[in-house]
Amino acid sequence: MKIFVINCGSSSIKYQLFDMTDESVLAKGIVERIGGGEPNLEHATGERTVERQVDVADHAAGVRLILDVLCDAELGVLKSVDEIDGVGHRVVHGGETVTASRRIDEALCDVIRQNIPLAPLHNPPNLAGIEGAMAAISGAAHVAVFDTAFLATLPPAAYRYAVPTEWYTQHKVRRYGFHGTSHRYVTLQAAALLGKRVDEVNLITCHLGNGCSMTAVAAGVAVDHSMGMTPLEGLVMGTRSGDIDPAIIPFMVSRGLSIEDVERALNKESGLLGVSGIGNDMRDLLAARADGDAKAALAVDMFCRRVGKYIGAYTTLLPSVDAVVLTGGIGENALPVREAICRQLASLGAVFDADRNEAAAGRAGPITADGCRLPVWIIPTNEELMIARDTADLVGSD
Ligand code: ADP
Repeated sequence: MKIFVINCGSSSIKYQLFDMTDESVLAKGIVERIGGGEPNLEHATGERTVERQVDVADHAAGVRLILDVLCDAELGVLKSVDEIDGVGHRVVHGGETVTASRRIDEALCDVIRQNIPLAPLHNPPNLAGIEGAMAAISGAAHVAVFDTAFLATLPPAAYRYAVPTEWYTQHKVRRYGFHGTSHRYVTLQAAALLGKRVDEVNLITCHLGNGCSMTAVAAGVAVDHSMGMTPLEGLVMGTRSGDIDPAIIPFMVSRGLSIEDVERALNKESGLLGVSGIGNDMRDLLAARADGDAKAALAVDMFCRRVGKYIGAYTTLLPSVDAVVLTGGIGENALPVREAICRQLASLGAVFDADRNEAAAGRAGPITADGCRLPVWIIPTNEELMIARDTADLVGSD
């Protein structure tokens, strides 16, 4: 079975084509700068990667171009699009009602449309990709996999904010959460690695990439999560502040910033970038810190401290913790960050193991000593594979 996975951002389309007989990736790539600048395609098959300037006006044209490349005599891996059995679409916001991946029909498109106010930057390009792909690959089943779905199990005490009830009932102000596909993938992987059934595993999963979020997982089910109504809440991120005192917002407006200025600052000019003044890339900050840069050191400290603090809080929500799981670009690769987080968890029973930290670079493994009370694991995430598996399951169940 061949499954095509599409992830449409505001100006890009990332894609992977899977052969589900062995879950191998036949081809993958990205079209960038759609609708502005000079659109660019990067396409990889096996060891070979090609890059070229392309003429793509919108997401539908981008999908058609990708399909042309996949079926190209020289660069392609398909004879025709008819070989594609299912298409998995990443969709950011399913609102309150969508709790699992679903076959796409007009009613589901309506749900995605209704949730545009909650994800104005993401749901519109997601929909554009769906419409473009459904037209271009009409013979395949199309499935939507929602970032919010894994977090739909949060209880009201976790998803409600302590604000006037009407904000929730009339304006849908509540925690939705994001990165759910990643948290679900590492939850399934962790259960397998720990030799437990998913419904008996208790975890704290930390997705630490450019965006960062944490989920408390009780018996395989999400019971709390750090991102909120939007992805701004919670951990310190590349350019997002995470938690701040909400009173800072009107205070800065009273100092002359517009509400748009404040929103942009909190989303795009804060986090690692805002504190370090260097950038949002953890590699650059670790290098600057090693060169004695005090602001970079502070930014890294604040990042790790917030993660450790949240893990501490989440331990109180679970009957026990089988493992803390670190994933995402930082979790999978930034060894000094992993060490700092682990050492902060010493009083909870994590015993850091430097050799294991080295060994688990870019691959799964514990970074704590055997038998310690709070094991910390590195588990690389794979959202595209999770989307492909869900799609294959729903196509196969026809
Ligand atoms: P996204 O959220 O955009 O998918 P990623 O999960 O790829 O992001 O994570 C990006 C982050 O991972 C960046 O801060 C980057 O610096 C960090 N990162 C990637 N590789 C390394 C590495 N070898 N060492 C330290 N940090 C790394």
